[in-house]
Amino acid sequence: MYDLDLDRALRIVEERGYKLVGLQFPEGLKERAVEVVEALRNAGCEAIVSADPCYGACDLADEAMAPLGVQALIHFGHTHIPGRTTLPVHFIEVRSPADPLPLLAQNLGRLGKKVGLVATVQHLHTLEKVRAFLEGKGIEAHIGGGKGRARYLGQVLGCSFQAAREVADRVDTFVFIGSGDFHPLGVALATGKRTLAFDVLMGEVREMGPLVEKVLRQRYLRIGMAKDAETFGIILGGRRGQERKLLALRLKEELEKRGKRAYLLQLREITPEALLPFRKLDAFVNTACPRVAIDDGPRYKKPLLTPIELEMALGERSPERYEMDEIP
Ligand code: SF4
Repeated sequence: MYDLDLDRALRIVEERGYKLVGLQFPEGLKERAVEVVEALRNAGCEAIVSADPCYGACDLADEAMAPLGVQALIHFGHTHIPGRTTLPVHFIEVRSPADPLPLLAQNLGRLGKKVGLVATVQHLHTLEKVRAFLEGKGIEAHIGGGKGRARYLGQVLGCSFQAAREVADRVDTFVFIGSGDFHPLGVALATGKRTLAFDVLMGEVREMGPLVEKVLRQRYLRIGMAKDAETFGIILGGRRGQERKLLALRLKEELEKRGKRAYLLQLREITPEALLPFRKLDAFVNTACPRVAIDDGPRYKKPLLTPIELEMALGERSPERYEMDEIP
């Protein structure tokens, strides 16, 4: 059970004198919304919960909430991503009480001699302890990053792996502390290094290698299919923190220089169904969240590429080393 830091939420509403706030949670924390509303209500502050899907701090509900008269948005579970907002937005980072050391102790033999340590924000507070533990066992442990949208040392987001790339040439293996395959898959794709997911919620360790191979096969298949495409839809994200208009315009220009036709599509919720009306186009490029193409690519009938994959399809970039699309 994650620690939601309700005391901090209460302090915020009391200190600012808020009487009506908006609340936003990632999918995995939405079930705790009622508990937070009740706590705020007891403190004299009513709350409106954003029930729309929320995939990251790139996707704030402030614009949707502002016309409802809320005084601020309290966003749980993600770190602040720089950018303007319509309302005051308070980020409450959430921490997991899970201790990764027992799982590490059971799997020391799998680590090698030099490792890079990365985690999602919920587990970042354990990294220094993990480093001390590993170094006590004679294993070099490196932690990089702390820049851009992944603002803390060792922090990775689904679209930002600077913390891993920065130390990649000093390590043999990455140790990811967190849950799920989404982030460690990104670490492995962004660095080309062996990555072990220490899933502290499931209590298991997974090698990312087989999943990486599967995803790369899918990606190169899509890149190959897009080589003969003549018409492209270039998707511009409707979420503020995923907006890369200049990149979209540059890609359009690149395609047109090669005699291809390109059409700009603004889309908030990118799904195979949303692209069905554009079925006459041969391929799509997504300048919004980089993970849509990588994680959901096989669900789309036509190739859906990242901007970097488009450059590979056009022969502008070598396909030898797969490069992950990131938003720094
Ligand atoms: S752009 Fe995608 S990966 Fe990056 S924070 Fe947003 S939802 Fe996550």
